[in-house]
Amino acid sequence: MTSRTAIVTGAARGIGAATARRLAADGHAVAVLDLLEDQARATADAITDAGGRALAIGVDVADEAAAAAAVERVAEELGSPAILVNNAGILRDNLLFKMSADDWDSVMDVHLRGAFLMTRAAQSHMVEARWGRVVNLSSTSALGSRGQVNYAAAKAGMQGFTKTLAVELGKFGVTANAVAPGFIQTEMTRITAERIGVTFDDFLAGAAKETPVGRVGQPEDVAAAVAFFCSEEAGFVSGQVLYVAGGPRS
Ligand code: NAD
Repeated sequence: MTSRTAIVTGAARGIGAATARRLAADGHAVAVLDLLEDQARATADAITDAGGRALAIGVDVADEAAAAAAVERVAEELGSPAILVNNAGILRDNLLFKMSADDWDSVMDVHLRGAFLMTRAAQSHMVEARWGRVVNLSSTSALGSRGQVNYAAAKAGMQGFTKTLAVELGKFGVTANAVAPGFIQTEMTRITAERIGVTFDDFLAGAAKETPVGRVGQPEDVAAAVAFFCSEEAGFVSGQVLYVAGGPRS
């Protein structure tokens, strides 16, 4: 497999960290971007300790100047980025009538503005190389999810964003696809359990019961799907949304 430079946002933990480790295991140099710089460094150190190449950068993906600077730093220190995984995400759940405008804006900023800024900065490297892979994290919540009007809109937005990237960038050898996970066992779902006042174990058991394959997802389940879209052999697959949810939806 050709070794490339990959950027994974929100890679300090959870799905992003598993994706960073997986892409490194596939032979790529990986830039681990996150707001949480210390934890990003831990992810990068684990990759380096396993014999891979990695660089940790603390960045807010929704900050225009910082996102562009991070991509340029990756290009200088690790190589021109050919793979971008827009994974950084947050939840600000509430029922519509109780949701603040700030909670709406924060979710749009991280998921949509962040993915837009990162992709705009990275695409010039991919277009110049006539090869690139963009993978965006959507969610089964895009199909409708109580208490998540902001998040569902952002995750549905990621699908339209992905399909448009595929249309615009295809002729430059750049594909764009989305992975839409169901229930994955991460800090994000642990914090949700805490917020609604159930133990994480009960929350996991309930989610597993509602999932056709009878278990919740692990970050590595999502990383495997992302890795496929990033592979050489996926060059004719673009503009797709792959649900990784243990069933049609979780
Ligand atoms: P997580 O909360 O464990 O990790 C998200 C990471 O994103 C954190 O390290 C966080 O610091 C980082 N981040 C947040 N805002 C950022 C910003 N502005 N700039 C840079 N980094 C930022 O969550 P996760 O469960 O690993 O989720 C990863 C992605 O997968 C998210 O986009 C999420 O919406 C999506 N997803 C998760 C699930 C699930 O069940 N866990 C399901 C569907 C989709």
